[in-house]
Amino acid sequence: MCAVVGVFGSNDASKIVYYSLFAMQHRGQEATGISASNGKKIKTIKKQGLVTDVFDENTLESLVGYISIGHNRYSTAGSESVLDAQPVFAAYKLGELSIVHNGNLINKNEVRSLLIEEGAIFQSSMDTENIIHLIARSHQERLQDRIIEALHVIKGAYSLVMQSRTKMFAIRDRYGVRPLSLGKLPDGGYIVASETCAFDLVGAEFIRDVRAGEMIVFEEGKEYKSVQLFEPDLHICAFEFIYFARPDSVIEGKSVYAARQRMGRALARESQIEADLVIPVPDSGVSAALGYAQESGIPFEMGIVRNHYVGRTFIEPTQERRDMKVKLKLSPISSLLKGKRIVVVDDSIVRGTTSKRIIRILKEAGAKEVHMRIAAPTIEHPCRYGIDTPSYKELISANMSVEEVRKYINADSLSFLSIKALKESLGNDCNYSLVSFDGNYFIK
Ligand code: AMP
Repeated sequence: MCAVVGVFGSNDASKIVYYSLFAMQHRGQEATGISASNGKKIKTIKKQGLVTDVFDENTLESLVGYISIGHNRYSTAGSESVLDAQPVFAAYKLGELSIVHNGNLINKNEVRSLLIEEGAIFQSSMDTENIIHLIARSHQERLQDRIIEALHVIKGAYSLVMQSRTKMFAIRDRYGVRPLSLGKLPDGGYIVASETCAFDLVGAEFIRDVRAGEMIVFEEGKEYKSVQLFEPDLHICAFEFIYFARPDSVIEGKSVYAARQRMGRALARESQIEADLVIPVPDSGVSAALGYAQESGIPFEMGIVRNHYVGRTFIEPTQERRDMKVKLKLSPISSLLKGKRIVVVDDSIVRGTTSKRIIRILKEAGAKEVHMRIAAPTIEHPCRYGIDTPSYKELISANMSVEEVRKYINADSLSFLSIKALKESLGNDCNYSLVSFDGNYFIK
């Protein structure tokens, strides 16, 4: 997961990066960091914690310059230490370099072993460090060629933003698994960010998505330059639309909110049931539940209240703490639910913890029947391309049939969206990464 952002050619570069990271806090809450350069030196500040905890006026004032990149970390590869926060910075033969990465490299262990064999010393357990080492060891004259050489060694999903002291590079893997968009700032500078919700906050105008397999080079005094490094074969991650991205973002020309609503509508068509109320699991199920209610004609109510001062349940690494957080986070409105047949809509079931708990609280609040509707297909395979779904062992739908899951979560009925309806809801105009659902690991 994670969020990446880069700003080029703006005097307030690090401040714009800060606001962008704030807008994309949902993509990772474990650690955050910003690098900035005034053309002479790159300075980096990174730390565990939320954007607003890590940075203040003083720290941002110290990050001077017209180029800045930033990152919010959600741990996928690597441990939890501050060494695993990004940007990853290095001084090397040609000068200084700082990198942020969203995605997951599938050949990280092989590449790392080779590099270690050749004498490289690693500071973290992050796959991103491989890229720095490959660039530093390349014998190419120009940084751009060194980057290209490194990109031919790594495999996997990556949206990358890199800065040297005077240039910035934005790169998306040939499958475009993770999103990355390009925008123009009001002061004439450029911005690239994982999600367009960052553009809205900083007043940037959306230009286009960075293309799958493309590298965009930003250099002072020149127009940005596009280099198509790999033949594009777009497979944007379906989970960005299902759960991960903010509903006000637009990915590959598609509104995340509208896509979720279409998934909810399709779900209603596929699994109608007689009921008195449709309620969402807040906030993840809201857009899909609205779609479900519109299509089915069953009234929509916010039957569960969310405490906003508790972070996302998944952010907590251990199972006990995740259980506790679900309890802290959601509570039912009994007067709405008593004696009613309820359709409750959520975006996904991963381990089953959330659904089980929600059904328990709805029944305790007096609901007569609880019908669980999931606006995504069953997650049967771990994602290796940067979404933090757990191993086969922990994925409930990898181990149980829909009927067994229904019993486990104690629902009166349970339905998931079909893969076909998911694709139709997203639009049949491009391919999607659907590995969690169909197990097609297309990056070889
Ligand atoms: P679980 O309780 O393990 O079944 O997780 C399902 C809940 O977690 C749903 O409410 C989702 O909105 C949310 N969710 C799904 N995928 C992820 C993810 N990769 N990271 C964080 N939360 C997720």
